[in-house]
Formats: sequence, structure tokens, C-alpha cells
Amino acid sequence: MSPTATTPSTPASEALFSRARAVTPGGVNSPVRAFNAVGGTPRFIRSASGPWLTDVDGNEYVDLICSWGPMLLGHGHPAVLDAVREAVGRGTSYGTPTEGEVALVEAIVARTPVERLRLVSSGTEATMSAIRLARGFTGRDVVVKFAGCYHGHVDSLLASAGSGLTTFSIPGTPGVPASSTELTLVLPYNDREAVAAAFAEHGDRIACLITEAAPGNMGVVPPAPGFNRFLAETCRAHGALFISDEVMTGFRVSKAGQWGTDGAVEGWVPDLMTFGKVMGGGLPAAAFGGRADVMAHLAPEGPVYQAGTLAGNPVATAAGLATLTAATDEVYARLDVVADALRAGIADTFTAAGLPHVIQSTGSMFSVFLTDHPVTSFAEAQATSVPAYAALFHSMLDQGVHLPPSAFEAWFVSSSHDDRAVQQVLDALPAAARAAAS
Ligand code: PLP
Repeated sequence: MSPTATTPSTPASEALFSRARAVTPGGVNSPVRAFNAVGGTPRFIRSASGPWLTDVDGNEYVDLICSWGPMLLGHGHPAVLDAVREAVGRGTSYGTPTEGEVALVEAIVARTPVERLRLVSSGTEATMSAIRLARGFTGRDVVVKFAGCYHGHVDSLLASAGSGLTTFSIPGTPGVPASSTELTLVLPYNDREAVAAAFAEHGDRIACLITEAAPGNMGVVPPAPGFNRFLAETCRAHGALFISDEVMTGFRVSKAGQWGTDGAVEGWVPDLMTFGKVMGGGLPAAAFGGRADVMAHLAPEGPVYQAGTLAGNPVATAAGLATLTAATDEVYARLDVVADALRAGIADTFTAAGLPHVIQSTGSMFSVFLTDHPVTSFAEAQATSVPAYAALFHSMLDQGVHLPPSAFEAWFVSSSHDDRAVQQVLDALPAAARAAAS
């Protein structure tokens, strides 16, 4: 679709959305897909190839969601498809150990500082299990997290900040009992003083602090220099575990994720890490792991229970291993080239249109905040313009570019984003900037 094309016709998506809403809450199986934050009808996708999505009406879009992170290599990468076909040919699930699981775990251990790893099926399971293990290992109950960091829909982590920095939190959604969040402390991100105060008051009760290694779920809000190291050191000083959630950043920001850009350089290691998205190659696979002595507390070696019928599923592990194997230095270099081209085009075009904006990145992951000052916390992210983002989003969609349908998400690229896809995004920007500025 050319950027000058008129608004795509979407009768088939509209019909499917109406059918879906009759049988599924909101018509979708994960809330952000419903377009509630930007309005309009979600595009029902029929197929995807490389950087392109094709909807059920035959419209094509450059994909800047990439399945919310997993599609590092783009859609339908030949090596991944071959691995999946080969695995499916041998059966889809056995409930017994396989060589593929060992190979995927070895590949992750080789790229990260984790010594032992357990496979699960979703990022939510990974963080939930890591929290349970941290509590079981330390014999303590309190969990510290940051406002704006999302770790999946774990009850104890769906918490909103209480009234003071060191007061315990309240449920962030109906359905989570107060008793599930009363042991969770929610602190402002990038705020060392808040962390120090919380540990000073509750340090001997804190089992763990969990943080996104570089938050992407309030839009990309990178850690201030040294912040992750400060968190690791504070946890260590108080006998708490530092859990670095790399579900989004793992194997995307670098071969060793966000840790590859800070911990590996600065010389510190998280006690536990969580992974998902890229390591499943677009199929359901995730993991948590870390220090051998901590992981030894997990069943069947230790007393902390955790399990999964489809954990280490042979098809998912094949897709994940093929993805990690294909993620060479050239892939990461291409991701940077694509992201740099888009960021430069956005900055030039939005500046020319007089549209206030800030682009924040970690590696090739970036967010475009429609505001005129850097965003360092959730409170600042929430103060950016949501209506302007909706206008930007719809103009881009009309011109064949599918951005994340929310102002508070990362934009993801893949190594398959070729020059034609990049150019289609660049060509769409001027009209979108005008729409957002008006
Ligand atoms: N942790 C982070 C940092 C995430 O971004 C997500 C999902 O977006 C999760 C955990 C939960 O992963 P899943 O959606 O696979 O349950």
C-alpha cells in the first residue's frame, strides 16, 4: 500500500471484530489488541512475512509491533519455520524430557549470566515462579517493584502504589484481593532515595526486588546510568534477591539482553532473571533462572514447587533455539540500522512539523513520547499526550504502518525490516506528524 493511498477498507476485520465481541470479552485475547487506547477497529491479521502483516481484507502493513517483541528475525524466518516443521513432524508434546529443552537452556546459559534455568510457557509464569522461589529461598515475604513496570498478570505484581513511598500497595485491578498485594511495595522508577528508604524500613522482610531490566511497558524508560547496579547492590546488602525481568529485553537489546549492556560491562550479576518473547521465536516459551544455589531450591531438587504441562514444549523450544541460533551479530547490527533510520526520520519530521516529542531507547527498542521533556518515571509517561498519539497511530495505519495501539508501548523492529519497509514508514511520517500536531 502506498503512503498516499486512501484509508484502507476493512469490512472483513470489522465483521470479525463484531463476531469476536459476541463470544470473547472485548473481542480480543489480550486487552491492548482491542484498540481501546486509540479507537477504531483492530486489524485481524491473516498472514505475516518478514516485516509485513496482511490483514483479512488484503491490506498490508509494515509491522512495528513484532508480536510485542518475539519476532526478532521477522515473520516466517526460513530457519525458524524449518525447525518448527521438523519438530511438529515428530509430535507436538510428550510430557517427558527432550534434547531440545536441554539445547535451548544451554543456549540461554551460554548468552547470559544464569547458571541454572527452568523453562515455562509465558513471561507471567516466569516472574510468578521467580517471586515464589525468592520467597522460598529467603524465607521472607515482601516484594518490591516499580510503578510502570509490568511483569505479567501475577496477582501480587498487579499492584498500585500506596499513599507513601514505604507503605504497602493496593490491588491494581478488581479481582486481586488486598491480601495479595499487601506484601508488595511499589516505588517510583529511577528513584534511588525511594529504594533506599524502603530497604531502610523493611530490609529484613524483603525477599526480592523485581524490575524490568529496562522498562518497556510504560513506553521505553531506560534505567538511569548505574541504577540497575545500585539495585543489585542494595539487594545484596540486605540479603534480598535482585530479579531482573528480561522478558522483553532479553536477546533483543543485545545477545545478552539489557544485562549485556550494563551488568556485563559493570561487573554485577542478578540473582534471578526472567526471559520470554524472543526465546520462544513466536511460540509460547519463557524461562526463569539464575544462581545455582537459589535454583537448587526448586522442585524436584528443592522444596519450592513449580511445574507446567507444556513447559519446554518441543515445538516451542525448536522455534526458540532456531531463533537464538540465527540471531547473529549481523542481525543485531541490522536491528540498529533500522531503528536508527526510523528514529532519525521521526526526529526530523516531527521537529519540522512542530510536534513536541522525545524518543527514548534501549538498543533497537524505542518509544516516541509526545512531550517536550525526557520521561524517567511512570508518572511522567502518563503526562504525555494520548490523543495526539491516537492521531499519529491512525494516520500511520491508514498509510500502511502498524504501530503499537497505545502511547505507552515500545516500538519493535526486526532484522527483516528491509529498505522498502523502512522507506514506507519514513514516507508516512509527515502526514502523521501533521495529524498529531493538529
Ligand atoms: N515481563 C515483561 C517485562 C513483559 O513485557 C511481559 C509481557 O509483555 C511479561 C513479563 C509477561 O509475559 P507474558 O505476556 O508472556 O505472560
